[in-house]
Amino acid sequence: MSEFKNIYDAHLALKNKKISAKELCVEHIKVAKENKNNTFITLTEDFALEKAKKIDEKGINNHLDGIPFSLKDLFITKNIRTTAGSKMLYNYIPPYEGTTSDNLQDAGAVLIGKVGCDEFGMGSSNENTPFGPVNLPINNDYLPGGSSGASAVSVLEGSSLFSMGTDTGGSVRLPANFCGLVGYKPTYGRVSRYGQIAYASSLDQASPFAKTPLDIAMIMDSITKNDEKDSTQAPIGAMNSASKILNNTDKDLKMTIGIDRSMIEGCREDVRDSLNQSIKELEKKGVKFKDISLPHLKYSVAVYYVIATSEASSNLARFDGVHFGYSSKNGKDLEDSYALSRSIGFHEEVKRRVLLGTFCLSSGYSDEYYSHACKVRKLIYDDFQKAFKECDYVYSPVCATTAFRKDEILTPLQMYMNDLYTIPVNLAGLPSMAIPYGKSSLNSLPTGFQLIGNSFKDEELILDGHKVFEVLK
Ligand code: GLN
Repeated sequence: MSEFKNIYDAHLALKNKKISAKELCVEHIKVAKENKNNTFITLTEDFALEKAKKIDEKGINNHLDGIPFSLKDLFITKNIRTTAGSKMLYNYIPPYEGTTSDNLQDAGAVLIGKVGCDEFGMGSSNENTPFGPVNLPINNDYLPGGSSGASAVSVLEGSSLFSMGTDTGGSVRLPANFCGLVGYKPTYGRVSRYGQIAYASSLDQASPFAKTPLDIAMIMDSITKNDEKDSTQAPIGAMNSASKILNNTDKDLKMTIGIDRSMIEGCREDVRDSLNQSIKELEKKGVKFKDISLPHLKYSVAVYYVIATSEASSNLARFDGVHFGYSSKNGKDLEDSYALSRSIGFHEEVKRRVLLGTFCLSSGYSDEYYSHACKVRKLIYDDFQKAFKECDYVYSPVCATTAFRKDEILTPLQMYMNDLYTIPVNLAGLPSMAIPYGKSSLNSLPTGFQLIGNSFKDEELILDGHKVFEVLK
């Protein structure tokens, strides 16, 4: 395991020549190769060593120069296998580079490899994939959460100093919470989605995992550049949050945080205790908490699973074995070959969602389901906007429990319900930071909460998230 706890530590060591980019890279690849937790689908050792060598020759300027990282296998990487955690794209080698990967490598980060995920990002446990589940390093009987669980594990096990996941309904904040890491879901439209294999286009955002909010700032500064290739990205330019954190001497927690206490009541006792403790500590440090009400959030899971599956059924239509993806050679005719390719190429959960989404969009039903869900989505957004008139941030649990045991979640519906607290943020398009805090009195696993900001207040949320993290750690 590397001696460096976070990106900033490693950056200082690289800058002061205490270690070379190549040595740092070798250390991390060694952990990746031990493969204790089934984290990686594809290792990019030669590519990484070549890049590290170039960084050593060029010298250290940027925060991310020479920093080893991993990508969820939903990010397109030129000439590097990209599977989406699916048999459908088992051998896919993309001919182009996606923007997230391009920006990070342009900023000097060294790609160690591509890590596993629930197939096409659909899941909360990292089990829905033919590549097999990923272990929670702290206790192998447990799972790291999903769908970006392997990204979280790569940071926790020490094979990467940061990792990129995607958050459609909580897939970064949930594993961050289960692994005791910081996970950041940007405002919808703050980062480019170009070259990110789509699950639900109106919800998906590239989202980083790291050990601290300062590290998150360094990553966000690099991935928020304007991208002409994605018209859903707001052209407001790159953030500059890391230097603001580093130069800020004002440690005051002058903020008002809104809280709907019924959300905490719904959590398991050990999680509830830890959340209440975090609130008490923040109050002691000067944070003002204000009771708010978010009455439509209880519809979030229903709304999300109509919208996300509808969009997924449309996005995944291209994987028919002819346009893209696994192709069965045994079809009697074209129709039969489409059916066979999709039945074999997709795993059970993806098929379930494609069926559900196709039904929700079918003629005669789309008004009743999809359009109706879009209307309720607006009510959820309005709840948050009303709250932000009275507070700067909203406090919320990330999950009602800690990490799941491998045999714990038995039905798809049980799994969907775990997204109750993360999904509203994606439906409303808001930014949110999952912050680790404390441990469960029941099983000693990490606990934590999320701070939700208003749209495009990403920089403020990261600066304040840093202060909150620092006083609680
Ligand atoms: N668990 C949610 C789902 O399965 C969220 C997934 C995600 O954020 N990619 O849809």
